[in-house]
Amino acid sequence: MHIAIIGGGMAGLSAATALAEEGIKTTLYEAAPHFGGRARSVAIEFNSQTFQVDNGQHILLGAYKETLKLLDKVGVDEKSAFTRLPLALNMLSAHNKQGFKLDCANFLPHPINQLFGFLLCQGISFSERISTILFMVKLKKISYLLTEDEPLNDFLLKNGQSHHLINMLWEPLCLAALNTPIESASGKIFLNVLGDAFNHQKTDSDFLIPKLDLSQILSTPIARYLQAKEVNLLTNKRIRSIKPSKNGFEVSTRLESVEFSHVIIATTAKKLKEMTVNLPKLDFVTSQTEQYEDQPIYTIYLQYPCHIKLALPMQGLVDTTSQWVFDRGQLCGQYGLMAVVISAQGKHQKLTQEMLALKVAQELQHVFPQLPKPLWHKVIAEKRATFSCSVNLPRPANITPYQHLYLAGDYTYADYPATIEGAVRSGLACASLILK
Ligand SMILES: Cc1cc2nc3c(=O)[nH]c(=O)nc-3n(C[C@H](O)[C@H](O)[C@H](O)COP(=O)(O)OP(=O)(O)OC[C@H]3O[C@@H](n4cnc5c(N)ncnc54)[C@H](O)[C@@H]3O)c2cc1C
Repeated sequence: MHIAIIGGGMAGLSAATALAEEGIKTTLYEAAPHFGGRARSVAIEFNSQTFQVDNGQHILLGAYKETLKLLDKVGVDEKSAFTRLPLALNMLSAHNKQGFKLDCANFLPHPINQLFGFLLCQGISFSERISTILFMVKLKKISYLLTEDEPLNDFLLKNGQSHHLINMLWEPLCLAALNTPIESASGKIFLNVLGDAFNHQKTDSDFLIPKLDLSQILSTPIARYLQAKEVNLLTNKRIRSIKPSKNGFEVSTRLESVEFSHVIIATTAKKLKEMTVNLPKLDFVTSQTEQYEDQPIYTIYLQYPCHIKLALPMQGLVDTTSQWVFDRGQLCGQYGLMAVVISAQGKHQKLTQEMLALKVAQELQHVFPQLPKPLWHKVIAEKRATFSCSVNLPRPANITPYQHLYLAGDYTYADYPATIEGAVRSGLACASLILK
């Protein structure tokens, strides 16, 4: 048995780890010079100084059990790698000074802490608080399961959530979790994530924010583990085609072809078509995945003088183009550096990077008047950050019509939006199909 894994993002890396643990001979092909895919660090230069930042600020949830297990297995110490923050949302509005504040009373047992949190949250009326509590109780009753998918916005309105509440609470959460506009986002998938965060243990809704750059936390320790297990790790190797062969599949780069007994394709949905032209039984799947709409995530890094610190390490913004601001000084010792995140499509995409950075800096100064002008900025535009997690999106299975050919990748983990956890679980699912 010799397995080829194509793609060294979190899906491919997690599949490789599970196979390596069982001593299965595996070769991992990655087209880029580095592993990590869409969750990686990048070096940015300013005034001949190099700063290590992420391709986008990532957050994990306490509910990301398989990712946390994987990181533990490869020797990542959670406390050194992440700041774990119990669920608390602080949303500042550009229009309304009061904003919105939800702090789950963590000294209370689960789930009373959540109800208490909603009862005491600030910035919404008493009747809005009650409607949120009733909504949460209803979700618990239906086990956070929607039998018929529908746009999240419609579902919320039908369930008594006011426009104000949607603006302050649900829309920011939808953008953060699904990276999809709330009008088209899948209500069903949103509830899956909410259920995983709220329906079990108190710590499931914790935010885990990286203290180190993403590659140091994710791909580098996993690759080190794989190397020690003698997995053949190949970077700068783009797979051009996969063909059925006598004993499995012939996997080809531009320069060579190698035969494998099994193949896991762990690329993004959009890349599937180009390498599977010789696998006609996959046409049905690729005709669906080709239709996936991409959603962008923009991260605007703004460097202020080192002494600048926000009141909180993570702050939500509403009625602005900016959606979340992370104080990297408090989170990872990059003093004065703010990471502002803008998820999903929007008018900001029409601006030049210079104009966008200026707009974001002005918005920050409006809500945090103590901020001076930033010293420098860098915009990282991930135009194809995730697939659009829309209503009833067809999601392919890990098995394919070809025996011993599997699909991994965040898009194949049908219960979740594009997330690290979805990618990890998809990789594990492919490995367990091979190992069974
Ligand atoms: C800016 C940004 C912010 C995000 N924030 C969060 C967050 O806060 N929380 C969260 O959970 N998720 C977040 N995500 C989503 C998360 O990063 C992805 O869902 C996850 O990393 C996807 O992993 P994957 O392995 O499925 O795909 P990818 O990471 O895309 O990996 C696919 C790999 O395949 C390689 N490849 C492609 N074609 C070939 C080929 N022909 N041959 C060989 N290799 C090939 C690619 O180079 C890539 O490395 C974010 C994503 C972005 C971009």
